[in-house]
Amino acid sequence: MATRRKEKHYTLEMDGVSIQVVQKSMRSIRFTVYPPDGRVRVAAPIHLSRSEIKDYIERRLPWIHKQKERLESMDFVPEPEYSEGELHYILGRKYPLRFAGVRSTALNGRSLEVPRSLRGQKTKIQRSMDGLYRTLLKEFMERRIPVWEKAMSVRVNARGVRKMKTLWGSCNIRTHRIWLNLELARMSEKCIEAILVHEMVHLKERLHNRRFYSLMDRYLPDWKEREKELKEGGIRYY
Ligand SMILES: [Zn+2]
Repeated sequence: MATRRKEKHYTLEMDGVSIQVVQKSMRSIRFTVYPPDGRVRVAAPIHLSRSEIKDYIERRLPWIHKQKERLESMDFVPEPEYSEGELHYILGRKYPLRFAGVRSTALNGRSLEVPRSLRGQKTKIQRSMDGLYRTLLKEFMERRIPVWEKAMSVRVNARGVRKMKTLWGSCNIRTHRIWLNLELARMSEKCIEAILVHEMVHLKERLHNRRFYSLMDRYLPDWKEREKELKEGGIRYY
């Protein structure tokens, strides 16, 4: 058991499940089953004894097993290899990766061209792909936000693209700033547009209430259909 400041970290084996426990200054116990492999983590208040924690876990085991099963039944996109000819989805279309004498990763006709100098360097290729994703999403926003601002009579003051773990987009209703998740660059423009409109509707209605969805229906009647791609597109965010 490692003790770090006021934290305890250890692993428990229960019912064939390996559980990472962290005890720290917090009020209630929290269980998380992480994708893609169903890793289980329990965060618990520092003052609980180990047997108390075991009791809590015991009671949550059925739930933990259910979550693990759910994750196992989902198909996750395998980690890309970034090898010659590998297919990558960009704006909803498949492009074969080609190493070429280019300075930065870009689309060229029907191929995704990656600088030859990066061959074999996964992290560097990934970073370079992120650059392309960011550019494409920024271009998309430049093009589409003015159209929707007019249609919805709202004003977006700032926009950005970033990696987000749990959200496809976000909207700061105080500063009128919209963020899109970098991973959206893999989806079709129809789908990205649904997320953009969703975030912009928040400028009119903060909550996901009836009014919110009736505004969505008004501006983008097929928004549900468009968002389906997010579930079929591989990575899943819940
Ligand atoms: Zn929302």
